[in-house]
Amino acid sequence: MISFEKAMEIIMTDVRTTGSERVDFNEALYRILVEDVFSDVDMPPFNKSAVDGYACRFADLQQPLHVLEVIAAGSLPSRGIGPGECIKVMTGAMVPEGADTVIMVEDTEETEAGVIRFTSGKTATNIAWKAEDVKNGDKVLEKGLLIMPQHLAIMASVGCVNPLVARQPHVAVLSTGDELVEPYHAPRPGSIRNSNGFQLAAQVKDAHCLVSYLGIIPDNEQATQQAISHALENFDMVILSGGVSMGDFDFVPRIMKQNNVEILFRKVAVKPGRPTVFGRTHKSYIFGLPGNPVSSFINFEIFAKPLLYRMMGHNHQPGELSLPLAMDLVRKKADRMEWLPVKFSGEGSVIPVNYHGSAHIHALSLAQGLMCIPQGISEIKKGAPVHVRPI
Ligand code: AMP
Ligand code: MG
Repeated sequence: MISFEKAMEIIMTDVRTTGSERVDFNEALYRILVEDVFSDVDMPPFNKSAVDGYACRFADLQQPLHVLEVIAAGSLPSRGIGPGECIKVMTGAMVPEGADTVIMVEDTEETEAGVIRFTSGKTATNIAWKAEDVKNGDKVLEKGLLIMPQHLAIMASVGCVNPLVARQPHVAVLSTGDELVEPYHAPRPGSIRNSNGFQLAAQVKDAHCLVSYLGIIPDNEQATQQAISHALENFDMVILSGGVSMGDFDFVPRIMKQNNVEILFRKVAVKPGRPTVFGRTHKSYIFGLPGNPVSSFINFEIFAKPLLYRMMGHNHQPGELSLPLAMDLVRKKADRMEWLPVKFSGEGSVIPVNYHGSAHIHALSLAQGLMCIPQGISEIKKGAPVHVRPI
């Protein structure tokens, strides 16, 4: 059995990336950028008025100002201004030469036709200066970025309409178990509905990868052999649930080996999910996750998701929070790192959800985060800080 940290190190060593493709930037949301993006413009591109008002000289604010012309956003002033002059500008319009201040319309009154007066005691400059935000040639987006809506605004502004992004890993999800029926059918006596096939497929999509759910594999060697060899040939990653423990019909690891999978670990000191199997072939990765749905959920989150992101060149940071625990917590055994479903209280503390173990999907469905208790820690006092990954 290896530690969580060792397992992560093994998973994240020599990761094969999936290559890249150009897409229309409008299709690039949640893709991973694989080249830096540079600006081809200054931002702002010219001295720009930040308000609707009168562009003038700060030194002239105590005197009447002659309005030379009115400039809409998108139009150019036909001239500069001199002493005692101003040009009316709309928000976003170019500030004329000679002006160092734009006084807001609200701070003025028209004293006679074509003449205004500043009526307020003070004013900001109200000018966004050329290139004060970004200079032409500046790097504006860094490779490895997970593209969010706000990054599309940058791409649009710098004309990056065909960004180079990572190809999405295509992941096969399979469920093993003779006891499973698909949710469309009523369970027979002794059987249960397959829940984690769908949960895992959704987790893959949530990691912005492509997924094919390949169905239930019955617990026989021939069916498992066929399914695994097909999946390894055709997908960048294969995720199986079930069949990795010590039961008489748990032969997933053996069949992985028969398919030239180099098994890199078989047991990790985490709870839930000790019998997690991880391996690779010359072209694919494979995870055998334990069958209980809370285990498969957590093990996907902690092991498979960072790898999927890394395959796309993104360094996934799960955004762990450090918050006080709302109550004392004691556990009998501390030989493994443990992940527990928790909620956040209104006061910013962490409350463990009533949880009966790794089959208890209802507890997971109520959770807002996963709290991590490190290996070796058996007691945490109320108020002590704990680490939580929001889910
Ligand atoms: P296994 O890892 O195959 O020994 O399965 C452990 C437990 O998880 C058993 O109680 C299984 O019935 C259950 N289980 C396995 N696969 C699934 C699944 N796809 N959906 C829900 N429960 C499952
Ligand atoms: Mg099973």
